[in-house]
Amino acid sequence: LGPTICVGEILVEIVATTVGDGFTEAQPLVGPYPSGAPAIFIDQCGRIGGAAAMIGAVGDDDFGRANLDRLRRDGVDVSGVAVDPDWPTGSAFVRYRADASRDFVYNIATSAAARFGWTEAVAAVAGRAGHLHVMGSALSMPGAWPVIEKALVSVRLRGGTLSLDPNLRKELKYDTETETRFDRLVGQADLLLPSGEELERAAGVEGEAAAVARLFERGAKEIVLKRGAEGATCFQPDGTRTDAPAFAVKELDPTGAGDCFGGAYVACRRLGMTVEEALTYGCAAGARNVTVRGPMEGAGTRAELDAFIRNTARRG
Ligand code: ADP
Repeated sequence: LGPTICVGEILVEIVATTVGDGFTEAQPLVGPYPSGAPAIFIDQCGRIGGAAAMIGAVGDDDFGRANLDRLRRDGVDVSGVAVDPDWPTGSAFVRYRADASRDFVYNIATSAAARFGWTEAVAAVAGRAGHLHVMGSALSMPGAWPVIEKALVSVRLRGGTLSLDPNLRKELKYDTETETRFDRLVGQADLLLPSGEELERAAGVEGEAAAVARLFERGAKEIVLKRGAEGATCFQPDGTRTDAPAFAVKELDPTGAGDCFGGAYVACRRLGMTVEEALTYGCAAGARNVTVRGPMEGAGTRAELDAFIRNTARRG
């Protein structure tokens, strides 16, 4: 049916190597690393061998080139990525706190990442696509929404499908309009990939079972709940529940785990794998990625993930 496409922010990420409260003091930083949740998702999708294309924008600078080089290397079609002559590539700074939570400083609103639009090149990519994946973070980019709406129409016309990772970030602004857009996508998504409290937030009801039931009432066909070091669970409307334990790894940098999980899961399902197989690859992609510093540095090819699965014990 055509490639999986993802619309949204492409960034570089600069990561603090020390743990602490926010960015008010000088500290060692590493990067830039190619990043942006949608870019991480699509890179993992391409790496595993699923046809993949990205829609978004970078600046005409080294940060932009680093991203384009990475995506191309990993088999992602970047013909729908604009190179903006006027605005720099978006960036994100990340620092971890002792309780494992993260602080982000984003430079997105005043960057190319938030400013792309519907062009002939984008229409051509969307016109070939069989699946659209949306990250909640992209909904707060002013330029992204019209592109997401049009891309969804294009994908649906071809009988394609939609997945949504709520991916809510406390640092990004979610006004009433964004909430409305988010809710519309929740109601249209075939596959939902929430993590933690995003399940209840997307459903608008409390309790895991009630939230899952509500999302099925709204039309979802598959819900995959990501549980970090506890693994992941897939719920299906017929009541089937498939639990996948996490792989036992030492976490060095958690950023990007959920995006890698999603990219692998969606690619595997679209390649015709069962829920169980796709969960195994998703958990492997997430776990492998947290062992390496940088948001997508640990994304794996099919062969790398097969080796990881063979050589890594599972928890629980
Ligand atoms: P998100 O980044 O969206 O919050 P998670 O943290 O749940 O998503 O990570 C996605 C998946 O990656 C998990 O379901 C799990 O399989 C894997 N993963 C994440 N963190 C770890 C970890 N510390 N150990 C093993 N696997 C992990």
